[in-house]
Amino acid sequence: MIYVRGQRQDYDAWEHCAGPSWGWAAMKQTFEAIENHGDDRGGPVEISKGAFRYSLTERFIAAGEEMSLARRADLNGEDQEGIGYYSYNIKNGRRHSAARAFLDPARKRSNLYVLTGVEIHRVIFEGGKAVGVNGTKDGHPIFYRTQGEVILSAGALNSPKILQHSGIGPGALLSELGLPVVVDRPAVGANLHDHLGYFLNFRLKGESGTNHRYRGLGLLGSMFQYMLRKTGPMATGPSEVGAFVRALCESETPDTQLHLLGYSVATPEENLPVPKPMIEKFPGMMIHCSSLRFTSRGTVRIGSADPSAPLRIIPNWLSTDYDRRLAVAMVRYARRLVEQPAIAPFIDKEVAPGTRISSDEQILEDFRRRSTCALHAVSTCRMGRDLDAVVDSALRVRGVAGLRVADLSVVPVPISGNTNAVAMATGYRAAQLLKREPSASVTGMAT
Ligand SMILES: Cc1cc2nc3c(=O)[nH]c(=O)nc-3n(C[C@H](O)[C@H](O)[C@H](O)COP(=O)(O)OP(=O)(O)OC[C@H]3O[C@@H](n4cnc5c(N)ncnc54)[C@H](O)[C@@H]3O)c2cc1C
Repeated sequence: MIYVRGQRQDYDAWEHCAGPSWGWAAMKQTFEAIENHGDDRGGPVEISKGAFRYSLTERFIAAGEEMSLARRADLNGEDQEGIGYYSYNIKNGRRHSAARAFLDPARKRSNLYVLTGVEIHRVIFEGGKAVGVNGTKDGHPIFYRTQGEVILSAGALNSPKILQHSGIGPGALLSELGLPVVVDRPAVGANLHDHLGYFLNFRLKGESGTNHRYRGLGLLGSMFQYMLRKTGPMATGPSEVGAFVRALCESETPDTQLHLLGYSVATPEENLPVPKPMIEKFPGMMIHCSSLRFTSRGTVRIGSADPSAPLRIIPNWLSTDYDRRLAVAMVRYARRLVEQPAIAPFIDKEVAPGTRISSDEQILEDFRRRSTCALHAVSTCRMGRDLDAVVDSALRVRGVAGLRVADLSVVPVPISGNTNAVAMATGYRAAQLLKREPSASVTGMAT
C-alpha cells in the first residue's frame, strides 16, 4: 500500500472542526508513534521506500524537476508539494497491513477474541444506550451483548449503513422505510468524498518501461524473482513515483496527486465502465491524476429496511465548477509533464485519451466517462464539535450512549492523499481517546 500522510493543512481543518485532539500537532505525533522506518525503534507500521527502480522512474522525476517541482526524499514531509518515490507499507517484500501491524501482535491477549465471517446489521439499544449488535454468521442470526461500548468500524460506506439500519440517520428516510427513528441525524451518510482519478496512457519509444515484466515469460521471471528473492516488480506497489502538484494556479497547496506508472493497461471501450486490467503488448506508461480535495459531496443511503439490500451510493462527482476546472487542469498538467525534455524523447504517442481530445469540453467529457474513484471514501459519519455532526471529538455518536465510530467515515475534512495511513492513525487515536474518555452518558452536547 502506498503510504501518504496528507497535508498539515488538512489537519488544521480537522482541528477547526473537531478540536485540538485532531489537529496537526496531535496527528503528527500519532503518525510518528505508529510508523517504523526500518530501524525497529518505531511503531508497529512498517514504512519502506520499495526497492524496484528502472530508468523511467528517474526520467519521471527529472521531468517533474523541469516543471519546477522539488525532488523530495520523502513525500510525507510537512510541505507536500514535489516529486519523488512513494513510501509503502512493505516489510521484507510483503504488504504490512493494519492486521499484521496491530492485530497479529495482540492476538494472544486474553481480552481479545477475533471472530470472522460475521455480518453486522444493527446496533441494539436499550434506554438510549447501545448494548450490542445483531447480524448473521454463516447465515445464522447472531446477537452479541456488551457490558462496555460498541465501536463501529465498518468503513465509510458500511458504518453509515449500519447506523441507518439502527435508526440513526435522516429521520424522514428511516420513517419512509418503516424503521424506528432513534436519532434524526441527516449527516449520517452525507458528505461522501472520494478522490476521483483519471489515467493518461502513453506508448514509449527507446524505453522499455515494465510491461514486458508483466506478460508471458517476463511475468514468469518476475514471479520467480519475487518468490526466490522478494525483489522486482512484484515486490513493490502499483506506482513507484508520485507527485503532489498545483494544477490550478490559484491553489495555495497541492490540489492534485500524480501516480506515475511504468506500465500501461489497455482500456478498450467494451471494457468500460470498469476496465479489465490488460497489460499492453508494446512498451507503455501511465499517469494517474487524482483530485486531492474535490468539493462535490455525495450520499450513502439505505434503500430498504432489509440489511442485505444494496446501498444507494450517489457520489455527485464533478457537480461543482471548481471540480470541473480542476479535472481539466489535471489532465493538462499531466500532458505538460510528458512534454518536458527529460521524458518527451521517449514518448511515442498518447494512446488514451489521445490528442484528438483537446478542448476543455472534450477533456471534461472524457474525464466523466473514464474517471474512477480511488477507493478512498471518507466523511459519511463526520466528526465535529457542532451538534449536527454524527460523532463528537471523542468519536461518540451524538444522541445515544455507548456507541462510537472509528474509521474513515468520521473524517471531518478530506485528506490530500491516499487514505490508509490516516485510517490507521485514526484507529490509533481512537484507542487513545477510548482509554482516556470512556463513554458514560448520552452525548448530545457540543464538546
Ligand atoms: C483495492 C484498494 C486498494 C487501496 N490501495 C491503497 C493504497 O495503496 N494506499 C492507501 O493509503 N489506501 C489505499 N486504499 C484505501 C484504504 O484501504 C482505505 O482507505 C482504508 O482501508 C479504509 O479504512 P477503514 O478502516 O475506514 O475501512 P475498511 O478498511 O474498509 O474496514 C472496514 C472493515 O469492516 C468490515 N465490515 C464492513 N461492513 C461490515 C459488516 N456489516 N459487518 C461486519 N464487518 C463489516 C469490512 O470487511 C472491513 O474489514 C485502497 C483501497 C482499496 C479497496
